[in-house]
Amino acid sequence: MNIINHLALSQLPSSRKVLYLYRRVFRLANQWEKESERDSIRDEARDKFHKNMYKAELDYLTYTITITTKGYSIPKNDSHSKQQDETTIDINMTQKEIQMIQETIINRDGWRAGMKYLYDYSTLSRYIQEERLHLNINYEPYLNHQYTNVPFQVTINCSKPEIISGQTPKESHYNQFEGKCVICYENIASKSRSGLRAYEFTCNQSGAQFFRQFPPYPYFNGHNVIIDRRHVDQHLTIDTIKELLDICETMPGYKVASNSDRDGTGATNLLHRHYQAGDYHFAVFYAQTKKEYHHNDCTIRWLNYPSACLQIRGLQREQVENTSFKLFNAWRNGDFSPALQQPLQTCSFIATFDETEKMFHFLIFARNAQQPKFLTRPSLQCIKKEFVGIFEMCGRAILPGRLKDQLSRLESILIDFESNSNDDALDYGKIVLDQEHEIFRQWINDYYVQLKNLTTTTPTTTKQLLIESMNHTFIDILRDNSPIKENDFETIDKWIEIMKKDL
Ligand SMILES: [Zn+2]
Repeated sequence: MNIINHLALSQLPSSRKVLYLYRRVFRLANQWEKESERDSIRDEARDKFHKNMYKAELDYLTYTITITTKGYSIPKNDSHSKQQDETTIDINMTQKEIQMIQETIINRDGWRAGMKYLYDYSTLSRYIQEERLHLNINYEPYLNHQYTNVPFQVTINCSKPEIISGQTPKESHYNQFEGKCVICYENIASKSRSGLRAYEFTCNQSGAQFFRQFPPYPYFNGHNVIIDRRHVDQHLTIDTIKELLDICETMPGYKVASNSDRDGTGATNLLHRHYQAGDYHFAVFYAQTKKEYHHNDCTIRWLNYPSACLQIRGLQREQVENTSFKLFNAWRNGDFSPALQQPLQTCSFIATFDETEKMFHFLIFARNAQQPKFLTRPSLQCIKKEFVGIFEMCGRAILPGRLKDQLSRLESILIDFESNSNDDALDYGKIVLDQEHEIFRQWINDYYVQLKNLTTTTPTTTKQLLIESMNHTFIDILRDNSPIKENDFETIDKWIEIMKKDL
């Protein structure tokens, strides 16, 4: 099938030729009736594009869709030309044009199709460098623990450019920006972010204007940042809860989260109000109930989870909003002294509208910004030193890229140490670590050695033991960052009591 205007192609500079071919394939894929086939063609095109984009020779650009081997049926007529026009991606389109296209797609095919369009645009415009995302390490979901069915997942984020050893990115994403900060609206389609586009909308409940954009290095499927159009401080209020629920209602199945509003409890930018979101099944949503309460036709579940989390479930948005706000208010302003200092009380939130149950789920993580009381203990900071954000509270660890090399080095050090020792009982205190890896000494002793002693009967590799150690560590990090300890029924009961008094 001839989808290429060869004359036009020959006149393009070589740097644009790959892009041109890629776009033609996308345009062709848009005509496919079956969604699965359309996606398959697009995925294949994307993969080919990223493998070949840096190569100069046109020989590498030959692209064949495996129509025959996969048994795809080629569209026969031109009935999809309208759709083709709407979904064709041109990286030079303005924010206004991209916005219009997204509105059309969302109205016709739903929010996921709209989001996919923005993703496709963002990868094509190179705002998202998809090939960098493949550098990340995602370990298998971890279930070998006391929290039944909660699939914690540890990942190592190697996609951010600053982690490449010995290289400084030419253009730092974090230093150059328009407006007052890196997430201000003025950055869209700006000189330093020419490939950035967003989806703009108004919250029905609060009237606030927002835009939703992909971060340059998304952590998982549908990872978006939802940003207030104005550069205003992050401050949790009733509007925060209204907005989270409103966005959830318009995007069933999507998970919309808010970091806290106190320094040291996960928020990276307290100067510009924003939400984090993802089309992803976070582990915390699988947690079972430790204790259940009822209020205002809502169920409040204290979850069996390493950090204190209350889940409010209800069929009516207003009731969920009301109950969630009362719980937030009780935590924020209630008297939990002397254990907790009231001015430092805050929360992290995540919410969703469950499509099958037709029910709102609103999760409140209790946080308190007292440092270092509710920070990760020093011996675990070799794994993660940064503050623990909402996605981590939800069971997805995003660990620094340095760990990739450090863990593989530790693995060799441990294998050498174990194979060169003649003693039956190894003294890991004698292990020799260089300066960079000295920070892991206590951790090796507390996790690796303990696990190794436990698993002497089953053959387990050093690598597996290190991964297991990281999984255990992540659960302990969640415990450390929780201001309410796991069996503190008293504080949870008190929280509910304060909430019910506030009528
Ligand atoms: Zn800003």
